[in-house]
Amino acid sequence: MRVFVLNSGSSSLKFRLLDVEEPGPHEQPIPRDILINGSVKGIGARATLEIAGQGVPHTKSVESIADHAQAVRCVFAHLPTSLAQVEAIGHRVVHGGERFSDSIVINDGVIKEIDALSELAPLHNPACLEGIQGARAVLGPTVPMVAVFDTAFHRTMPAVAGTYALPYELAAKHRIRRYGFHGIAHASLVDGYLAHTGKPAVGSRLITFQLGNGCSVTAVSGGRSVDTSMGFTPLEGLVMGTRSGDVDPSVVNYLAQREKVEASEVERWLNEESGLLGISGRTNDMRDLLHAAADDQDTHAKLAIELFCYRAKKYIGTYLAVLGGADAIVFGGGIGEASPDIRARICAGMDWCGLRLDAERNRSAVSLEPGTASLISPEGAGLSAYVVAADEETWIAKETVRCLRKNL
Ligand code: ADP
Repeated sequence: MRVFVLNSGSSSLKFRLLDVEEPGPHEQPIPRDILINGSVKGIGARATLEIAGQGVPHTKSVESIADHAQAVRCVFAHLPTSLAQVEAIGHRVVHGGERFSDSIVINDGVIKEIDALSELAPLHNPACLEGIQGARAVLGPTVPMVAVFDTAFHRTMPAVAGTYALPYELAAKHRIRRYGFHGIAHASLVDGYLAHTGKPAVGSRLITFQLGNGCSVTAVSGGRSVDTSMGFTPLEGLVMGTRSGDVDPSVVNYLAQREKVEASEVERWLNEESGLLGISGRTNDMRDLLHAAADDQDTHAKLAIELFCYRAKKYIGTYLAVLGGADAIVFGGGIGEASPDIRARICAGMDWCGLRLDAERNRSAVSLEPGTASLISPEGAGLSAYVVAADEETWIAKETVRCLRKNL
């Protein structure tokens, strides 16, 4: 089946056309071929469209693109007609709220519900909806579309992990709970680990790190999320590129009063001006920080890196307690995949729980092929460590086929 995957970010759209083998009744869909890959960046103004694929030369063009619906039309206008024969579309949707605990075939009712959830994800769900509407306008109502939610993987979290200790009725009234995000990334890290090791999901206990610009960590038991670091919004948890992660909520009012600004402005600082960028005063880019810390002896860059790794290590301790021990730590995301240095710092001093990296394996586990994995701890370690080059678009394509089969 030819599946077109649309991954709408706040101002970007990643897309991929894949050929997926339809499985037997109890088998997983198998992606056979990536036919087209591309992205549109800078939606809302002069956007850059990049597209490449089998028999399609890599092209880059700048277009004026107002929204995601127009971006989708533009992408299809650039597809060679032989490749425009799409049989299904898989959309990444950031927020599925309490309603969606699994992927779902999109109909008008589902569109309304995703729209209603925009209140909880004002930057992301509207962009996903525009993508859905744009695809519908191009392909018509007969090509099935599936919504794959970033929050769905965490709907298995027990109440004790998903609840804030706020007045119960008040929290319920405003749907305030720990939703968790990056679910597609964590699910594909789990998938990559299981495929690489050949172990069954049942009985497995993993701690998965998605370390990119946004960062999160998830405790996974038997293939299911039982706790995760992001909460009501993607601000909670680890130190990120520009986000603070965990912070005492009293800071918001205190800063608002002292700086004579609205609480919303402090929240913007926590989201856009904190994290690696805020501490270093320099950059949110981990590569640049590592260079700065090594070359210039920049003490702020050093502190930013130390805090990033310290917070990650604290979560390993927390999730070992939650899971009662673990089989493996799994690293993914731009930093997790590409930085042996950061992986080594996070795992340093963890021999007490059997976690130790093999320096040579760790150093050489960079630039992995998408969808592959690599062991970076010694063989037979008490707690193993892996790098997985998670492949979100392929995972969405598999989910799309699985969901359509379920609904046949
Ligand atoms: P996003 O969350 O936006 O998808 P990515 O997963 O692409 O982001 O991760 C971006 C982060 O990965 C940046 O901080 C970047 O500096 C970092 N990164 C990429 N390559 C390396 C590297 N070789 N060493 C350290 N950090 C890296």
